[in-house]
Amino acid sequence: MTRPLHLFNTLNRKVEPVEPLTPGVVTLYTCGPTVYNFAHIGNLRTFLFQDLLKRTFQVAGYEVRHCMNITDVEDKIIRDSQKDLPIETDNPARHAAMKDLTDRYTQAFFQDLEAVGIAQASFTFLPRATDYIPQMIQLIQRLETKDLAYAREGSVYYRIAGLPHYGCLAHLDREGMQQGTSVDSDEYERESVSDFVLWKSTKPGEPSWDSPWGAGRPGWHIECSAMGMELLGERVDIHSGGVDLIFPHHENEIAQSEGATGHQWVKHWVHGEFLLVEGVKMSKSLGNFYTLRDLQEKGIDPITFRYAIQSNHYRKLYNFSFEGLKGAKSALERLRTFRKRMEDNVTSPGGGEWKEAIDPIRRTNDAREAFWASLSDDLNTPEALAAIFTLVSDLNAQDDRIALTREERDAVLAFLDETNAIFAGWPHEESNLDADVEALIEARKAAKAAKNWAESDRVRDELKAMGILLEDRKDGSVGWKRA
Ligand code: AMP
Ligand code: ZN
Repeated sequence: MTRPLHLFNTLNRKVEPVEPLTPGVVTLYTCGPTVYNFAHIGNLRTFLFQDLLKRTFQVAGYEVRHCMNITDVEDKIIRDSQKDLPIETDNPARHAAMKDLTDRYTQAFFQDLEAVGIAQASFTFLPRATDYIPQMIQLIQRLETKDLAYAREGSVYYRIAGLPHYGCLAHLDREGMQQGTSVDSDEYERESVSDFVLWKSTKPGEPSWDSPWGAGRPGWHIECSAMGMELLGERVDIHSGGVDLIFPHHENEIAQSEGATGHQWVKHWVHGEFLLVEGVKMSKSLGNFYTLRDLQEKGIDPITFRYAIQSNHYRKLYNFSFEGLKGAKSALERLRTFRKRMEDNVTSPGGGEWKEAIDPIRRTNDAREAFWASLSDDLNTPEALAAIFTLVSDLNAQDDRIALTREERDAVLAFLDETNAIFAGWPHEESNLDADVEALIEARKAAKAAKNWAESDRVRDELKAMGILLEDRKDGSVGWKRA
């Protein structure tokens, strides 16, 4: 059994039911990172929203076949990986330098994903663009045979006049637009809509591949069309990215894939809004640019960041602030404490009047219904979380006085686990410690090893005053928990 889910579709600007081509199986393509630097927390917002989208479908009973690409050849990657190489460097060495850079940042990217609760194993396909060059060339040739692509001086361009529905995603008013002839760069504004580049002839100082048009490399847009069609097929249920990808990237992906096949490629286009920092768009030049590592250095648990992102609706701008993370932290603490209380709850058969009035099983079922009604309405996460907190308040109000029966407790725990399979936050112990707490724990270990019991006790008391309780484990290691 699958639950029906609805999502906003950028194609027609409406919330629509998701009806997968194969019942019970959702194919999902999400545009992955360009790996020339660390991901910033804005990028991570988009990947977190896509993780929530995937988990919601999975917990709702669907199998999700998820493909996310790694863009490992692109203008900025070439710029950064080739800048220190002498001009006489040969092609294999240029490729090696590019791979060196992209391997490094791909690894860092997966570390960040794992830290925010996105497992690498949760992806069905993680293709790297450079492994799909033959498929890209074939797709461009297919467009040539349909007269939708033309070569010029070793580069190949898409002829947008040949596709009547070009502009359908970004809702371009083609009549009223000035159309330029062709552009070589991958990124441009909708004001300069033009024939766009599919294959770029090589310039001095660039790595290249052989092609029917001479040495060159793929444009950015063709990468996703080729990998998506190769791995998920010529009809896909959902395709997603940040709002900045609607034009030109996704518009051009539609042109390439639908131009080649002659039918619709993706049914549902889903876009996540931007993350701002203290009210301003994040940018390197303003210095308001954070990576996950910056947050971790400030002692912030990546799971707290995850919760802060997931508790906002994905189609609303999210204004990141350190102050805002405090709210996420206390909400998570409340959920974790509640869960622990349920686990530790001493079972008892009774409950008397309160039990009758509150009826924990009915309350839990009501909460579950409200939770799913919210998520199935375009992933309304703030309301889905509110449904959990209503249950927490109802049961917390009496929990100290009357224990739940085993059956009641298990029902509540099952609901918490079901919701956590989507939000991935509550049974988790906070992993990040302040640097000075960590230093004190180390000092305590050292004192114990030196059998300096007075010092060891002193450090333990100091930590206790800071709200950290130490646990001396049988294996000699030292665990900790918050008081
Ligand atoms: P990139 O690595 O630049 O290709 O971006 C990876 C993903 O992050 C894309 O889906 C972008 O739309 C998204 N993205 C970029 N900047 C932001 C931001 N400030 N907030 C949310 N998503 C973003
Ligand atoms: Zn893409």
